[in-house]
Amino acid sequence: MQNLLQNLNPEQYAAVTLPAESALILAGAGSGKTRVLTTRIAWLIQTGQISPSGLMAVTFTNKAAKEMQARLSAMLPINTRSMWIGTFHGLCNRLLRAHFRDASLPQTFQILDSQDQLSMVKRILKANQIDDDKYPPRNVVYFINNAKEQGLRAAKVNTYDPTSRQLAEIYGIYEEQCQRDGVVDFAELLLRTVELLASNQPLREHYQARFKHILVDEFQDTNDLQYRWIKLMAGTQSAVLAVGDDDQSIYAFRGANVGNMASFEREFRVQHRIKLEQNYRSHGHILDSANALISNNTERLGKNLRTDAGQGELIRIQEAPSDREESQWLVEQIKELTRQGIASSEIAILYRSNAQSRVIEHALFSASLPYKVYGGLRFFERAEIKHAIAYLQLMDNPHNDSAFLRVMNFPARGIGAKGQENLQDVARQHGLSLYAAVPHLGGKAGSTLGAFVKLIEAARFETQMLTLPELVKRVLEMSTLIQHYQNEKDGEDRVENLEQLVSSAAQFIAEEGFANDAPALMGPASIASTNIVQGDGVEILDADAALNTLMSPLSAFLSHASLEAGDNQAQVGQDALQLMTVHSAKGLEFDAVFITGLEEGLFPHENSAKETGGMEEERRLMYVAITRARQRLFISFAQTRMLHGQIRYNTKSRFLTELPEENVKWLSPKVQQNWFSSPKSAWDADDQYSQRSQFSGAGSSSYQNKVSYAAPHNIIPTNEDGWRIGLSVRHAKFGEGIIIKLEGSGSNCRAHIQFYKLGLKVLDLNIAKLEKV
Ligand code: ATP
Ligand code: MG
Repeated sequence: MQNLLQNLNPEQYAAVTLPAESALILAGAGSGKTRVLTTRIAWLIQTGQISPSGLMAVTFTNKAAKEMQARLSAMLPINTRSMWIGTFHGLCNRLLRAHFRDASLPQTFQILDSQDQLSMVKRILKANQIDDDKYPPRNVVYFINNAKEQGLRAAKVNTYDPTSRQLAEIYGIYEEQCQRDGVVDFAELLLRTVELLASNQPLREHYQARFKHILVDEFQDTNDLQYRWIKLMAGTQSAVLAVGDDDQSIYAFRGANVGNMASFEREFRVQHRIKLEQNYRSHGHILDSANALISNNTERLGKNLRTDAGQGELIRIQEAPSDREESQWLVEQIKELTRQGIASSEIAILYRSNAQSRVIEHALFSASLPYKVYGGLRFFERAEIKHAIAYLQLMDNPHNDSAFLRVMNFPARGIGAKGQENLQDVARQHGLSLYAAVPHLGGKAGSTLGAFVKLIEAARFETQMLTLPELVKRVLEMSTLIQHYQNEKDGEDRVENLEQLVSSAAQFIAEEGFANDAPALMGPASIASTNIVQGDGVEILDADAALNTLMSPLSAFLSHASLEAGDNQAQVGQDALQLMTVHSAKGLEFDAVFITGLEEGLFPHENSAKETGGMEEERRLMYVAITRARQRLFISFAQTRMLHGQIRYNTKSRFLTELPEENVKWLSPKVQQNWFSSPKSAWDADDQYSQRSQFSGAGSSSYQNKVSYAAPHNIIPTNEDGWRIGLSVRHAKFGEGIIIKLEGSGSNCRAHIQFYKLGLKVLDLNIAKLEKV
């Protein structure tokens, strides 16, 4: 038996071996919070205080949950798969699967991801003739999710004016539609579970008695609904260990509430708050910088961190003329690091927004450096995969309208917008799903859709006894999706992705412990039979084991596609660079970390200026980014960047100036100051965004050749006549454009202008007739 406790410092030791009472560990990055949490689980089991099924551990990302299971298996010879270790969404999904009847859900309920949620809202607005300029679909989705996170059903939403009444009405229609389709969105997974536990006493007491220990990592980022769920699962008897760091609270924009930490201490009668002050992750320069940066925040609970590791290398800061050159620089640095023996998988490239990854990916790809992207447009979110998944969803539940709509005319079957509308009308009149409404539809659309329904029925019939990978393969063939993409120009990637879906189904079956020959459509026997009868006559089937005892292979795979997307891009075991947003890097660590795009407006993000506390949240995000690094940290920014089809002229991020001089080394020379005003002025708060010019309409191809024309960061050159970079101008022949470079002076003054329609032109300012607009 391993001695689990031997490598812990005294504070960690005390935390791991706490008596069975609720406790809060509040400690900075890299101080071993997650390690304490995992070791405590192992210790509780090893000392016989609890069986593996008597505890539940909640983490924030699938990656973190997997890592916790792996660390645990390394400490104890136990099967962690059937343990209750997972994300909030994953565990709620498991509960709802086991108790679908009590939760008033169909057994085959499916999970609506954010994209599908948005499409459903758009459809509802259209069907009800609601003006989507006045009620933009994204805002409606935000409203709905927000209400759910506050635990509010449509009927309970506060309506105080016509707008809120209208929103509540849309929300109500949306609720009905989801129920009819048998789909639940992400927020619904939690809300439904909370309502189920709150209203069903026997069930609640069952779980409260079962889970003697509940452990929650990254507690600072829980929202109110998640906290309510923890309270319902815990009751008064369970010991809850909450672990967190207020300086790493980065989800306030999604309703996370740091205040939950204080409520937790009060409501769980926490006797003492445990502090961990030794950092085991980062070298001195990295830690000192993180500490200095975060000290600029005022709203802090206050913590200290020290390290015994040496100072290590200075943090390298690079200024690049453009995002392309920033990526080029990344490639060179990475090659150097790997030459020094650092594994690619130990190198992370972090960015604030997903949109930044494209240019980085392009550079890595051209340099043949393998990489893996977490988040972003994930495997399961690609159009061709979504289409395939929709067909699979129809195998599981043909009444899922979202799935039906997605593929009723894909590949094209000649069903026009009119036919679609007619079908939706008929379905509404009869209160039927689209699938069930088809026989009521006449005309050409009726017969074309009739053939589609027949195709689905035939596929459902034919695939009954197939295993999951076989079923996926067969459905891809029957749907003619593969054929469709084979005939499409540049369709090879999509065909490859579809083929990858078959392998990922095979991998899923193996990983989740389903029998190799289990028919994909068949649910486990335990669900089909009656529930286990408990002593006092209450029937409770415990949501006990792994998903393979709760769902059919296909249902489980579809949940996985919605919930656990993103892990399928690199081959398993491949040594690949790790690309992700700072948000998704939470809790992780790497030997070397690159933080890119340190530009005002990007990081800190411009939206943060609009919200109270927004800037402090951005700074916490930067704190999270810095503290991911063990040995080497690189930070970069670009003077110009192409983002969302616009070129942005950037000033460097304020966060760079908050890092102590003695911890950093500037690789690129600081900005030359020729024809410009004092760079200091760029730091005036009011000025911050006005110095960045943007324009739309330039395609990325024209941009490729032009980014290097940009001006140095934080300064906008102006000539005597007031022409300046970033100025919008109009030319009689070329139309409107924007000045991106000025050269020469007096009678020999030329401007490089990016015209929206015609691309770049270089014009002599003394000859060309330009108007300022
Ligand atoms: P974060 O706030 O970023 O989530 P954390 O507090 O959860 O960080 P961990 O990830 O648990 O920190 O630990 C950071 C690193 O330090 C890990 O590599 C861990 O194995 C190591 N570590 C923690 N405690 C010790 C210890 N007592 N001795 C040696 N290494 C340790
Ligand atoms: Mg952690």
